[in-house]
Amino acid sequence: MTTDIPTGNPTSPDTDPGPGADTTFDVIVLGGGPVGENVADRAGRTGLRVALVEAELVGGECSYWACIPSKTLLRPGAVRAEAAGVPGVRADDDLDVPAVLARRDAMVSDWDDAGQVQWVEGAGITLVRGLGRLVGPKRVEVVAEDADADVDDLPRSRVVEARHAVVVATGSVPVLPDVPGLAEVNPWTSREATGVEDVPESLAIVGGGVVACEMAFALSDLGARVTVLARGGLLERTEPWAGEAVAASLREHGVDVRLGVSASKVEPLPDGGARLALEASGRGGDEDPDLAPVEVARVLVATGRVPRTQDLGVERSGSSPDAGSRSTTRCSCAASRAGGCTRPAT
Ligand SMILES: Cc1cc2nc3c(=O)[nH]c(=O)nc-3n(C[C@H](O)[C@H](O)[C@H](O)COP(=O)(O)OP(=O)(O)OC[C@H]3O[C@@H](n4cnc5c(N)ncnc54)[C@H](O)[C@@H]3O)c2cc1C
Repeated sequence: MTTDIPTGNPTSPDTDPGPGADTTFDVIVLGGGPVGENVADRAGRTGLRVALVEAELVGGECSYWACIPSKTLLRPGAVRAEAAGVPGVRADDDLDVPAVLARRDAMVSDWDDAGQVQWVEGAGITLVRGLGRLVGPKRVEVVAEDADADVDDLPRSRVVEARHAVVVATGSVPVLPDVPGLAEVNPWTSREATGVEDVPESLAIVGGGVVACEMAFALSDLGARVTVLARGGLLERTEPWAGEAVAASLREHGVDVRLGVSASKVEPLPDGGARLALEASGRGGDEDPDLAPVEVARVLVATGRVPRTQDLGVERSGSSPDAGSRSTTRCSCAASRAGGCTRPAT
């Protein structure tokens, strides 16, 4: 199985003036997602000299692989469902998949962050492209990851220093559950799902949180036969009625929702797909859960995220990597820019 994940490919150079320039800033922000952008902006507005270090695309997960593309993919199906509820409106056509995906591509600016870099420059923030790592108190080494990036005149590695503080805003990464065989079938995470190019004929989604529910609606709207496998109920961090309403809505949608089940083993199929063996999780869910094995073209893992603090060198700054860290599930950016979602899942 191959994955067709669109990766961040920064085409605009960083705004670091390069060798010989002053490498000391008042504040260094590690990570240019919604949190890092806001911190850099707020600090800059007070007159502080700010550097923003970004390893992939300025705008982070939200702009390219999370809020924006997910809401864009949900929107057409939501509009169709709403229209279908109005007597006299015929809304039973399949979606125009290439058009839906083209709109998604436009909403994520074809995974190009030039527009956000323009904002960074306008805000007087210095963008330093590369993977940042603390190498001492208030000292950050930045290694340019992409040798082809337009930063040839800059050294591959440089050290920048902060007079006041280094802010770690490096976001989170998906968790892959420890299910035998799962890694071998090259499962999707939210990145591949929101960046989908070829809609799989069938998809098993492991997980029952927001990402699982949203992608179940979106991918089934796009024509995939979707099975959701959740250990307990859906959306367990919300009021029970919310998860129950979403489960009912997904089932009405034709999604096979199995609650109270765990994948116990995953095997690759000769055609490139995967077979998931199931067992009862014993954590609630359906009274008599359907444990028949599931055979699908693709598996999407949506079982949560952990803070991206590995290999950051936080301990070299005198802090603990886990001190006060938690992964955010909401950003304050306007997912509504993409049209928002009217379904209970969101
Ligand atoms: C599928 C999905 C849909 C979502 N939908 C919504 C929604 O509709 N509404 C909502 O409010 N939230 C939503 N979220 C959550 C939202 O995406 C996150 O809360 C938000 O992106 C967190 O922002 P952040 O800045 O903390 O991290 P991120 O957006 O992950 O940004 C972190 C940045 O840091 C960079 N970075 C990491 N390590 C380094 C390093 N060592 N050096 C330099 N740079 C580094 C990364 O490249 C990245 O650009 C969704 C999440 C997912 C997965």
